Amino acid sequence: MEQILRVNLSNGQILTENASDEDLENYIGGMGIATAIFTREVSPTVGPYDQDNLLIFSVGPFCGTAVPFCSRHFIMAKSPLTNILGESSSGGFWGRELKYAGFSHIIIKGICENPIYLWIKDGKAGLKDASDLWGKGVFETQDILKAKFGDNRIKVALIGPAGENLVKYASIMNDKDRAAGRCGLGAVMGSKKLKAIVVQGSNRPEIRDKGALNNAVKKLRELEKDNPVLDIHKQYGTTLGIDNMPHIGDVPIKNFTMSRWPGTKKIGGYALMEREVRTHACFNCPVGCAKEIKYQGKWVRWPEYETLAMMGSNLMVDNLDEIIKWNVKINDLGMDTISLGSTIAMFFEAIERNLIDFDKLKLNLKHTKLWGETETINKLINIIAYREGIGNDLAEGVKYFCEKYHLPDELATHGKGLEVPAHEPRANNMTALDYVTSPRGAYHCYMPMDISSGMYIKEEIGIIDIIDRFSKERRIAELVKIVQDSSEAYSANGGCIFGFKWIPQITPWIECLNAITGRNYSVESWTKAGESIFNLKREYNMKCGLTKEDDKIGSKFFTPISKGATRKNIPPIQELLPIYYKLRGWDSNGRPNMKE
Ligand code: SF4
Repeated sequence: MEQILRVNLSNGQILTENASDEDLENYIGGMGIATAIFTREVSPTVGPYDQDNLLIFSVGPFCGTAVPFCSRHFIMAKSPLTNILGESSSGGFWGRELKYAGFSHIIIKGICENPIYLWIKDGKAGLKDASDLWGKGVFETQDILKAKFGDNRIKVALIGPAGENLVKYASIMNDKDRAAGRCGLGAVMGSKKLKAIVVQGSNRPEIRDKGALNNAVKKLRELEKDNPVLDIHKQYGTTLGIDNMPHIGDVPIKNFTMSRWPGTKKIGGYALMEREVRTHACFNCPVGCAKEIKYQGKWVRWPEYETLAMMGSNLMVDNLDEIIKWNVKINDLGMDTISLGSTIAMFFEAIERNLIDFDKLKLNLKHTKLWGETETINKLINIIAYREGIGNDLAEGVKYFCEKYHLPDELATHGKGLEVPAHEPRANNMTALDYVTSPRGAYHCYMPMDISSGMYIKEEIGIIDIIDRFSKERRIAELVKIVQDSSEAYSANGGCIFGFKWIPQITPWIECLNAITGRNYSVESWTKAGESIFNLKREYNMKCGLTKEDDKIGSKFFTPISKGATRKNIPPIQELLPIYYKLRGWDSNGRPNMKE
């Protein structure tokens, strides 16, 4: 059973209900249920800041249980950045606390006149005035709320000034400095005048078969223990990508125009580990990759790979101190480092190539050093978060900015409006196909590219081969589809993708799900449920007006990089897309079997 809390901010009504058995059977739980409800209840014509846009927070069946890696919460709404279904997720403890408070979903509708926050405690919920919190940063707001509740253990999901100012890539933060960054869902929360959601819970979720769950968890623990990839992940988290991935041209440099740069050595995992670092883990995670670093006498979140790349190498910044400082600052303002770094890089390239009329914009950046110039970047972070001057346009993201200033298509480094993340699509044809077909736009977490390294093996779903990253064969499309469907199924359970990727078996996860819910999934029916979730998202997006012409990323990614490890590859997207559509059972226009 998954309990839903419905909150209407326009009239203050709060109701509870249960997710339907049919939805649970078809879409597993968590994010799958959110997708079913969202696509059913939000008309494609609803705008991101309309009353009727739903902002849904969900946790899956694994969340708060003994299953390792499984505390993630998922957030969904019509995205202001892409104007289609937007989603993002975050780790930490907020999701577990929501489950302990008795809910798997919060569905928020309507708009409040004045700033407000929602509190939830053990089956009860209410709304409280947040006027004193509006305008405050993420860290201060959490401190104030903890003092108000007189309890340091409360868990808070919230927005910072960027969300309040409707920056289109504003994040929803939680547990101090964890971020659901993508798709601008923080701006949706800001448009509803909802500053925060405070949760407190003390009840463990119901488990149908505790013995079966213990056995399945034991299997996962064994697989996790003897896993060399997870051992590296334990030590360095995602950051080692900066040190190792330039060897395959995967790291973005100078707005995706180069594939090698000596500066990466100064900002990667090895450089971070030379400092004082401590391990921090999400709830019930044996890995603990969410590390903290000592910075100016304080423990702060260290920057993940995506931040090191998008705020570092892609802007040619090799000053690790500045990146650590920005990471703290951007978390406090509540913005997505991927979209932010991408937008600034696009802006720098436009200035460098004289594509922007400085006199018209009254910009005095013309003679300023741009790439690697930390002072300029620092200034841009501020003016974007507060929408001052040119920051107002940059706060709209790459797509809007390129359209408004008539910039050439190669600067439009986005997919469906979502800025391309820090894995170079020319470095692996599976990355490129995944970016152009992902329902939320250019999205990186499912990472089919790892199949090329031999680290991603799952016999039960037919991933047994190591495929050449530049292969142009049908197998590329098959593998992307398999990874997408199985990752959607896994995400509906509420898991962190690192657990799924590096543990080479699927069956123990499904045994956990069956033990918790009393249902009876097989590998086939579980993967099928993932495919159904994926198709629901696609259908909804097509009803929003997307066509196959939107299955693309900027033209920059279809001209070769002259030097480096992408080896002048051009991803064969136009050849692979018809194969991919066919494998999915979509028509030649990329449309699933759609009901009007
Ligand atoms: S692997 Fe890292 S992000 Fe995933 S659950 Fe563990 S600590 Fe959290």
